[in-house]
Amino acid sequence: DTALDIQTIRKDFPILSREVYGRPLVYLDNAATSQTPRQVLDVIVDYYSRYNANIHRGVHALSQEATDAYELARKKIQLHFNIGSTKEIIFTSGTTHSINLVANGFSSILKAGDEVLVSAMEHHSNIVPWQMLCERTGAILKVIPMSQDGELLMDNYRELLSGNTRLVFCNHVSNALGTINPIKEIIDEAHKVGAAVLVDGAQSAAHIRADLQELNVDFYTVSAHKMCGPTGIGILYGKEEWLQKLPPYQGGGEMIAEVTFEKTTYADLPHKFEAGTPNIAGGIAFGAAIDYLNNIGFDAIEAYENELLEYATASLLAIDGLKIYGTSKRKTSVISFNLEGIHPYDVGTILDKLGIAVRTGHHCAQPIMDFFGIPGTIRASFSFYNTKEEVDTLVAGVIKAREMLL
Ligand code: PMP
Repeated sequence: DTALDIQTIRKDFPILSREVYGRPLVYLDNAATSQTPRQVLDVIVDYYSRYNANIHRGVHALSQEATDAYELARKKIQLHFNIGSTKEIIFTSGTTHSINLVANGFSSILKAGDEVLVSAMEHHSNIVPWQMLCERTGAILKVIPMSQDGELLMDNYRELLSGNTRLVFCNHVSNALGTINPIKEIIDEAHKVGAAVLVDGAQSAAHIRADLQELNVDFYTVSAHKMCGPTGIGILYGKEEWLQKLPPYQGGGEMIAEVTFEKTTYADLPHKFEAGTPNIAGGIAFGAAIDYLNNIGFDAIEAYENELLEYATASLLAIDGLKIYGTSKRKTSVISFNLEGIHPYDVGTILDKLGIAVRTGHHCAQPIMDFFGIPGTIRASFSFYNTKEEVDTLVAGVIKAREMLL
C-alpha cells in the first residue's frame, strides 16, 4: 500500500472538506485544475499583507522584497525541472500563453513550404496557435497519427520527419486520454533532422518530474494551476539559443533596455519576454506549490496515483457497457469513458448532483473525439489527495446514472 498519509494531506486542502448539494465534495476534475493547499494560499495572503509592490523597479524595501521572492520562485522552478539557467525560464500566464509566445516568434523564422508536425492527441491550445502560424507563413501542418489505444504511431512519425520539418509539438501527457507520450524519443528523432520540439507539459507537471536538460527539449510549457498553484501563472522554458533568436512577443515596460522614439533595444533574457507587471503573487505561490509537491515527493505521488488509477480502471470496467478511451499501458491519472447508449453530459449531470465533480465533453481536444467517433467523454482525473473511497463513490454514482438513464 501507499507510503502517503492521505488523510493528513487532505487536511492541507480547505476546499476538500466542503459540501456540494449537501454531500461531501468528491473532486475528480484535477486534469482541468488542481486544488490549492493552505501552504500556497498562505503565501498569497502573506504577499498582499506584507510586501505587495511592483518588482524590478523600485529601490524601496517592499519592491526589493517582492523582487527577491519572485526571482527565488524562478530559481525553485529551475531546480525542480533541472533547467540550465534562469534566463531560460519565462513567466507567462500559463501554457496557452507560452505556446502563443513561441508560435508568434516562429512567424519570423518559418517560410512557405516548411513543415510543422502536431500529434493527433493535442489540446486545442497546442493546435490553434500553430494553425494561425501556418496561415501567416505558408508553412504546412502535418499530423502524427495515433492508435485505437491512444498511442502515437512512432513509425509514421519517423516517416513524416524530413529535412523540411522545422518544429514538432506534442504533449507530455494527454489531458483527454492520460497517455504518457515517449517524448525523449520524439525529441531525439526530431533533432536528427534539425527540427525543434515544443513539449506541452500542462498535464504532466503534476504527475511526473521532468528533467529538461536530460530530455534536451527545446521548449516546455507548464501551468501552475495544474500543480497545486494558482491560475494565471505558468512558465515557458526555452533553450537560451532559441530564446535569443525569437523576437519579443509583447512590447511594454519591463522588457526594454533603452527606449527612444527612434529605436528601442530589448532587455536581456528572461525579461525580454516579460512585458508589463507580471502576476507577482502568482509566481511566488507557484514556487510554494513546487515546494509543497516536493515535500510530498514525486516518487510517492507517482506510485500512489498509479495505484489509484489501476483501482479505478478495474472498478469502472466492471460496469456493464462502460468503455474507456485511452488504454495505453503508459498512462497517468486520467480515465475518459462512456456508457453505451448514454450521452456523457447526462452522466456528468447526475454525478454532479451526487457531489462528484468530473468533466464531460470534448476536453478541448475535438480531434480526439472525432478519431473515436464520439461527441465527448466523461473524464475522471485523479490527484494524490484523492482516495479509494472517492473512487468507490464515483463507481456507485456511475452505476446509479446508468440505471436512471438506460
Ligand atoms: N495543454 C494541455 C494538455 C492541457 O491539459 C491544458 C489545460 N487543460 C492546456 C494545454 C491549457 O492550459 P492553460 O489553460 O492553463 O493555458
